[in-house]
Amino acid sequence: MNFDLSEEQSIIRDMARRFSADVIAPEFQKLATSNEVPYDILGKMADMGFMGVPFSEEYGGGGGDWVSMHLVIEEVSRADIALGTLLDVTTSVVAQEIDRFGTEAQKKQWLPDLCTGKTIGAFALTEPSSGSDAGSLKMRAELDGEEWVLEGTKQFITNVGLDHCSLVVVAARAEIEGKEQIVTFIVPKDAPGLVVGRSYDKIAFESGATNELIFDHCRIPKDSILGDPSRGFAQHLAVLETGRISIAAACVGAAQACLDHSLAYAREREQFGKPIFEFQGVQFKLSDMAVKIEMARTLYLKAAWLKDEGRPHTFEAASAKLYASEMLEQCASDAVQILGGNGVMEDYPVASIFRASKIMQIVEGTSEVQRIIIGRLLASGARS
Ligand SMILES: Cc1cc2nc3c(=O)[nH]c(=O)nc-3n(C[C@H](O)[C@H](O)[C@H](O)COP(=O)(O)OP(=O)(O)OC[C@H]3O[C@@H](n4cnc5c(N)ncnc54)[C@H](O)[C@@H]3O)c2cc1C
Repeated sequence: MNFDLSEEQSIIRDMARRFSADVIAPEFQKLATSNEVPYDILGKMADMGFMGVPFSEEYGGGGGDWVSMHLVIEEVSRADIALGTLLDVTTSVVAQEIDRFGTEAQKKQWLPDLCTGKTIGAFALTEPSSGSDAGSLKMRAELDGEEWVLEGTKQFITNVGLDHCSLVVVAARAEIEGKEQIVTFIVPKDAPGLVVGRSYDKIAFESGATNELIFDHCRIPKDSILGDPSRGFAQHLAVLETGRISIAAACVGAAQACLDHSLAYAREREQFGKPIFEFQGVQFKLSDMAVKIEMARTLYLKAAWLKDEGRPHTFEAASAKLYASEMLEQCASDAVQILGGNGVMEDYPVASIFRASKIMQIVEGTSEVQRIIIGRLLASGARS
């Protein structure tokens, strides 16, 4: 067994760590409280090659692996979890779905700009009446001559409100060879009839864009189907499995930030004549945070490694997402407590991380959904 990162993995992790500390972290107050998208930082992240790490150089990617991609997500999230989640959606989910299931023409059309950060992607599955039960979606696609016509509304869609979001990968019901299927389509953002609706006010991720998306007789060319039309839903679920590893990595980065800030604070802040770090009640919280973060990191890295090895990782991805997102809430809560009154002020990042932890327990499948996935594996005997 070998727990060491390769040289390439260490190099990209260290690059991302430096970038995060030097470029993103100084902007934390603006990122936590303003709803302006940080296009300047996004541009610099793209220049660093963070968007396309695991994809082939032929399509503008970095030729790296999924372990490296997730190390980048962890490090970026250490300074801003919303930016880490943006990487999850555009790289782990959208670009991966095109890379794995797209035709050569689709890959050539979309991947180079996504991999180099010239454009960003969005993924639209959730609807007003279908969230956890995603398979009950209602959106419809009908073939009209040489075009598909899409009708329906998606909600809570990340990234689609960004100026340079170029496409949305969408799931809709369509009749294929006489049978109703959930089909995946690539919809360019400027497609006629595609309307970016309301922007949601969230409890955290202020700097991230989350919007409603309306398909009002939206017309796209016939060849816009992504992958096998009879396996559109399975394709979505396959890439969401990677998304779960990415959410876990983002949670680990944010939890590490909680530890960094509360440890530094506990060393500095004196009460009763000594640094509060010397009180066992405070030190135990910090020790528990360090252990939980390491456990969550090990879980997500194992899931990413299994993915790189081409081996099944449904249990590991669901476990990593479940554990890391719940661990983040506990670490953020303890960090707020250690900072006392300062913990609930926006002067320190822990308050906004505390709020963000609830979002992380909901996106890419709620904690309950992860427990259902794990429970099914136990019931089937695939895990014991
Ligand atoms: C900030 C943000 C960004 C998002 N970005 C995207 C995006 O880019 N693309 C996209 O498609 N979606 C996105 N979503 C949607 C997200 O995936 C859903 O919110 C999530 O899947 C939950 O669906 P829901 O909100 O409809 O809750 P519901 O499914 O209505 O669930 C409500 C509650 O019931 C529980 N529940 C439901 N079914 C069961 C069950 N069988 N057993 C036990 N408990 C159950 C849930 O766990 C939850 O606690 C985003 C959401 C947020 C908050």
